[in-house]
Amino acid sequence: MKIEAFTVQGIPLIQEGDDVGAIISKLVQLDDGDIVAIASSVVAKSEGRVLRLKDITLGAEAKRIARANDEDPRFVQAVLNESEEVLIESPFMLTQTHAGHICVNAGVDRSNVQDGYVLLLPKNPDASAKRIKDTIKKETGKQICIVITDTCGRPFRIGQVGTAIGCTGISPTKDWRGEKDLFGRTLKITNEAIVDELASFANLMMGEGKDATPVVIIRGVKWQEDEGGVCKIHRPDAEDLIKGALRASKDMR
Ligand code: GDP
Ligand code: MN
Ligand code: MN
Repeated sequence: MKIEAFTVQGIPLIQEGDDVGAIISKLVQLDDGDIVAIASSVVAKSEGRVLRLKDITLGAEAKRIARANDEDPRFVQAVLNESEEVLIESPFMLTQTHAGHICVNAGVDRSNVQDGYVLLLPKNPDASAKRIKDTIKKETGKQICIVITDTCGRPFRIGQVGTAIGCTGISPTKDWRGEKDLFGRTLKITNEAIVDELASFANLMMGEGKDATPVVIIRGVKWQEDEGGVCKIHRPDAEDLIKGALRASKDMR
């Protein structure tokens, strides 16, 4: 297998109302089958998901958590507002967003945004992906898929990696179950989360700082067409033992 991947040059500082799909369509010659990976930060900016810290109204819970975590209470309030459920409160916040994504600080960022402001995740990243895909289809006629990425920490390991927080057009997983291994045994478990693998690689090319390269095109990967949606790989509550353990330990405190 041979895969080609490249960053898209010339993307401006994104403002509310900018059409990310149209910008990408103008700047790059896309092919059918391309995977277009986009940093959530620019999708969020285009959707106006930027908040001025000064404008945030503080509640008692935010003040309490902020004291415990030595954090800005207005930042904590922004995280709480974006969270459906707080799984860990201290010494850092791990929460589930309203869209169902679990990550530190509900994905609220203080980097690559003006001083005094925070950047929230897109409200519904799967829907954002679909909207951008439709625009690209309209502008270029190309059949592509979209993966929206965010840099996320993970449990058990030090370091952050790119994670898919939204996708469309591509099946989020490649199911190996039923296929044979080298020795003829049938694979029973492996359902590979390919959108996360693609997001990680794209994130490696995007960088985290001032590179200004929030869009990566990955060419040469065979993927299965599907309405997709990262929501499909959010583990159902009842099956999630780790989430269950976090809830139980919160109840004990
Ligand atoms: P996140 O992982 O989605 O939170 O995004 P990051 O803040 O890590 O940024 C990923 C990449 O996008 C980096 O190369 C940033 O420089 C770039 N980036 C962030 N915002 C903008 C923007 O408004 N315009 C451009 N051109 N690049 C941006
Ligand atoms: Mn981020
Ligand atoms: Mn990042």
